Amino acid sequence: MSAEIVRTHTADLYDAHVLQNYGRAPLTLVRGRGAKVWDDEGKGFLDFTSGIAVSALGHCHPHWVETVQKQAGELIHVSNLFRNPNQGELARRLVQRAGPGRVFFCNSGAEANEGLLKLARLHGMRKGSGEEGKCFKVLCAENAFHGRTFGGMSATPQEKIQGRFRPLVPGFAFGRLNDLQSFADLIDDQTAAIFVETIQGEGGVNPATPKFLRGLRALCSKHNLLLMLDEVQCGAGRTGKFFAFEHADVRPDAIGMAKGLGGGFPIGAIWIGETSAELFKPGSHGTTFGGTPLACAAALAVLDIIEKEKLLEHVTRESVTWHAQLRSLVEQYPEHLVGIRGSGFMVGLQMRADAAGWVAALREAGLLVPMAGGNVVRMLPPLNATAAELMQAVTIFADVLKAKKIA
Ligand SMILES: *Cc1c(COP(=O)(O)O)cnc(C)c1O
Repeated sequence: MSAEIVRTHTADLYDAHVLQNYGRAPLTLVRGRGAKVWDDEGKGFLDFTSGIAVSALGHCHPHWVETVQKQAGELIHVSNLFRNPNQGELARRLVQRAGPGRVFFCNSGAEANEGLLKLARLHGMRKGSGEEGKCFKVLCAENAFHGRTFGGMSATPQEKIQGRFRPLVPGFAFGRLNDLQSFADLIDDQTAAIFVETIQGEGGVNPATPKFLRGLRALCSKHNLLLMLDEVQCGAGRTGKFFAFEHADVRPDAIGMAKGLGGGFPIGAIWIGETSAELFKPGSHGTTFGGTPLACAAALAVLDIIEKEKLLEHVTRESVTWHAQLRSLVEQYPEHLVGIRGSGFMVGLQMRADAAGWVAALREAGLLVPMAGGNVVRMLPPLNATAAELMQAVTIFADVLKAKKIA
């Protein structure tokens, strides 16, 4: 098939048969290598979307590909009615990073968060009178995003996500990120947990400050609430630490993970600290697909490569220069750019106008990036993006800003 036929055909197939729940870019991607992807016309792009922080090692890292290919020829799925070596080993490696506790594997961020919300209910039973419905409230943050399931949506106070799907799951209340008092004011006898993203991703790349996170930790310890952190987007090395909360030197009671953990293979996980892990007993939760030999092999390859290639150090080192370059864009183009936020390779550029137009212009100029709430252009390069690739993104952005200046 010629490239033209593939292009037309794919666009037609989407128009005719794929659910219209996404406003998709008019782009069909067919191949990727490292931080680059190519469309069906052979045009190359620098990919700083990384499949929304998923392709942590870039596309088709040779060791990852080899590991997944080998495992696919060995054993793919057995269900959780049996053990498999990769799940045991991956759990050990995550416990090593998160602290004493236990891990449950699932397939996505929303599923990981459902697990955490069920944990909050179990903790509420332990804390309350042992009766259901007495202690079940979960405090979340304004502008949060925790996924599209009913639990996740209920924890996501945005009209565009909740609207048309009510009634939601009861028991959620919302404080303001980085306003500790606003959370303290919401705590009552029915409160079981506080649940926030360490860095809000979809909401506009809004970091919880170390001081705020330590304040939440203290509140939770004081009132016997679980501190549950959603690290689905900011975890797995994106900020230069394996978990973003490590920057604040706090320890949560539970963590939700997904996205970058599998390097492109769907996997989610929750880690629960040792004082609460035993709340889940046989029959209390489950999954058919979670923790397959194949998914866990993919995640083990990600952890191996993060360690062997010293990617946490790489992100920490390279982000210093890269952030400085991006900040200088803010200084050069104050008429378009308000500022930058974020940490490591999770950056948000706050624009003065709707980010959608900028994202489209950047795409035309050869750079793929996602947007985020509140006029924000997000940049999520793979953790192994080189200094030259980071610089290239800045150059493309500068060119696009300059073109708009002239217009
Ligand atoms: C993406 C995301 C989710 C949802 O993950 P899915 O895999 O899309 O279900 C939840 N929380 C955060 C912080 C996310 O960024």
